[in-house]
Amino acid sequence: MNCALCQEREANKKNTHYLSDGVIRKCLNIGGTNERERGYYFDISNGNPFIEFNFQRIDEVNLEKALGRSPTEEELENARQIPFSVDYVFCSICEKSFTEFESKFSNEIIPKLRNADLTGINHLTFEETSLIRMFFYIQIWRNSICEEVFKLSLEVQEELRQIILNGQTESINHFPLAITYLETLGGDITYTENYVGSTSDRNPNIIFMNDFVVQFFEAKDSVDYQEFYGLNDTADFAKCVNLEEETFTIKILSNDNRKKLLNNIITTEKVKQSLRLLKKSFDLIWQRMFYGFPPIQIKREYIEGLVGNDGSTVLKYSRKQIAEYTEKFIRDRIRK
Ligand SMILES: [Zn+2]
Repeated sequence: MNCALCQEREANKKNTHYLSDGVIRKCLNIGGTNERERGYYFDISNGNPFIEFNFQRIDEVNLEKALGRSPTEEELENARQIPFSVDYVFCSICEKSFTEFESKFSNEIIPKLRNADLTGINHLTFEETSLIRMFFYIQIWRNSICEEVFKLSLEVQEELRQIILNGQTESINHFPLAITYLETLGGDITYTENYVGSTSDRNPNIIFMNDFVVQFFEAKDSVDYQEFYGLNDTADFAKCVNLEEETFTIKILSNDNRKKLLNNIITTEKVKQSLRLLKKSFDLIWQRMFYGFPPIQIKREYIEGLVGNDGSTVLKYSRKQIAEYTEKFIRDRIRK
């Protein structure tokens, strides 16, 4: 197979990280060691057509917090390693050019964020516009090639490929691009609280890369404000979306707001997923017993009986409790 970037040479490179290792590594390391394997990943994909996370990594402690109880063996087993790397998609020459930009970004931009005192700072502006854009274009484009849920229109994907292939530095700032830096205080271990993964939502295309969050829009007229669990704020949204900029603005989310954002995401996504599973399994049980789908009203009663008006309480129940509740609910129905 030919390399996805040059489309000429053989894709001979193994273990290409499509989200830069230098950025995501700290996040994937539980305890800040170099043992990636110790990281826990939790699949919180859901059926909501608006947005779908492919994978979110979450450590055991946060998993327990999000569930409001100890995770089961199965849930822990579900937690899995996502290396965010691929074999035989790119060639070694293209890989080298990726690495050049990645090293430059690591040396020139990252220290200004990770090593800086960001107290009270909401935005930072950078002169290195084309370096920042190129670095994130590489992430966005490679992610669109390697990650199933993350899709770009073919025209935009091709334009990004050309920009990256030619190492273009001029006339590349016509794609609206917002970068948020999540201030991560507390040493290496705190980085493991962050997420790595992307959404299927097209406007914007969002990639979580540890302490960086990328929001990419395919065109000026596709810029649309989404609060996204506290990632964006109407007060400074326009300022944070870079477009035909002279200097590049990076939004800074304070450590406290970072925690709120991550907690909002994991809780909301997990609730949606759990409610969906619950409805599905109720359908199944009902079908087995009555050879048809449950009437909508009965299904609603079933869900409300469990969680009331607050869907988030669904996380408090264990599988056993739900099974017992379900059994009783159906038994009561039969008696009626
Ligand atoms: Zn190549």
